[in-house]
Amino acid sequence: MRVLLVEDDQLIGDGLKAGLERLGFAVDWFTDGFEGEEALYQAPYEVAVLDLGLPGQDGLEVLKNWRNNGRKEPVLVLTARGDVDQRIIGLNTGADDYLGKPFSLKEVQARLNALIRRANGRTSPLLTHGDVAFDPETRKVSLSGREVALSPREIALLELLLLNKNKVLSKETIENKIYSWNDEVQSNAVEVHIHHLRKKLGKDIVRTVNKIGYIMEDK
Ligand code: CA
Repeated sequence: MRVLLVEDDQLIGDGLKAGLERLGFAVDWFTDGFEGEEALYQAPYEVAVLDLGLPGQDGLEVLKNWRNNGRKEPVLVLTARGDVDQRIIGLNTGADDYLGKPFSLKEVQARLNALIRRANGRTSPLLTHGDVAFDPETRKVSLSGREVALSPREIALLELLLLNKNKVLSKETIENKIYSWNDEVQSNAVEVHIHHLRKKLGKDIVRTVNKIGYIMEDK
């Protein structure tokens, strides 16, 4: 899942980016309001995390411009704890949720999972396919009830496939959704991850569609 992070505080930004990447999110981090606004138009983000006090233009302006441009990506706004006015204005401007500072990574993760779940129209937090189950809260994957160890990137790919069942995903789409701008992507990276998923979860977990991409199909 690709996350856009717009936050000018170095400590918070660093912590969020590193923490979310460990969980298998691909994070692009911008510290300036103009760059942050532009970034959303340039890559397929599942969700955005937006600070309000930013250099360039403030977060509310960014949010207003996104919504005026028809962008519907869920946005989690970061506010100073107890700043009720900011929250109300944020929600009225089109924020989907807010979180007061200081917050824990767990809180951010829980909010992001809820926003992604809602955006995909799901009610159950668990994502399943046959005997495979993935819990976005714990980031744990199981096969027939037994936990399977996957790398953060394999988890990201599995989550993407689970959220897009019965749709063909091109290699390019997959790369754009599980890597950030700063990641070095080997030309065969997606094939390698697919190979590992099949080895760990069964060869039928995903089907290769000739020259087009990959699909996870309901049986
Ligand atoms: Ca700030």
